[in-house]
Amino acid sequence: MAYTYDLKRTNYKHMKLLEGKVALITGASRGIGRGIALRFAEQGANVAFTYLSSVEKGEALAKELEAYGVKAKGYRSDAADFKAADELVSSVVADFGTVDILVNNAGITRDTLLMRMSEQQWDEVMNANLKSVFNLTKAVQKPMLKQRKGSIINMSSVVGVKGNAGQSNYAASKAGIIGFTKSVALELGSRNIRSNAIAPGFIETEMTDVLDPKVVQGWRDTIPLKRGGSVDDIANATIFLASDMSAYITGQTLNVCGGMLT
Ligand code: NAP
Repeated sequence: MAYTYDLKRTNYKHMKLLEGKVALITGASRGIGRGIALRFAEQGANVAFTYLSSVEKGEALAKELEAYGVKAKGYRSDAADFKAADELVSSVVADFGTVDILVNNAGITRDTLLMRMSEQQWDEVMNANLKSVFNLTKAVQKPMLKQRKGSIINMSSVVGVKGNAGQSNYAASKAGIIGFTKSVALELGSRNIRSNAIAPGFIETEMTDVLDPKVVQGWRDTIPLKRGGSVDDIANATIFLASDMSAYITGQTLNVCGGMLT
């Protein structure tokens, strides 16, 4: 018995966690999505990814990913567009054979107080952050149901769990993602399709680079682990939820926030 246990441990140690799996990641031209794409490739995944405006960055990423010896391709596709999402998944299935992992990462902010928030600012955030998750999840259902397995990971936010002044549109979209994630887990669990959300705390990326450095330091000081999170912190959690290491986990929201929500 002890021997079998040791053997299993050895196998895990030498195995890449996502070897041969096909992953589709939205919004991977920069920030968290880019980090996830690189770490997925390092773990042996074939990576299809999207971007919207950063065409050059998208093309450069495909080359970086291929250097890991995996298949990689970038697609310019608006995640907020229902028809485009369906066409994207058809193209990915044609190019890669299937989709094993979907990471709904694309997201935007249009921060302002409710008093000043325009209808357009509300709609843009809801469409890019929440409708996109519906669009892509609906589209990957077909290949995932066919193969009777899949892992869907939706990028929410601690703001979706807790709320935040000046971000009512963003918070609503990220809270909506959590309700959607749980419902999909309940609907598709019997088909071995898992659906989980990650709620990053304060992660230092291009999205946060534009903020006042004093404000940023203030945030770091209030976090129990006393630092902002890195893209790798989120990528590691995403690898876990994408891999068979989390085979018995579905419908959950993993807060990756340095203890911020504790
Ligand atoms: P980021 O650096 O601004 O990158 C956003 C990515 O999404 C870009 O690749 C962008 O592509 C893409 N994108 C935006 N709208 C899109 C659309 N309609 N269709 C396809 N792609 C689209 O953001 P980030 O900080 O890495 O954040 C990634 C995710 O984590 C977001 O969902 C965000 O809400 C969430 N999050 C971030 C933090 C944080 O502290 N950074 C905290 C909590 C949650 P283009 O470059 O082509 O525009």
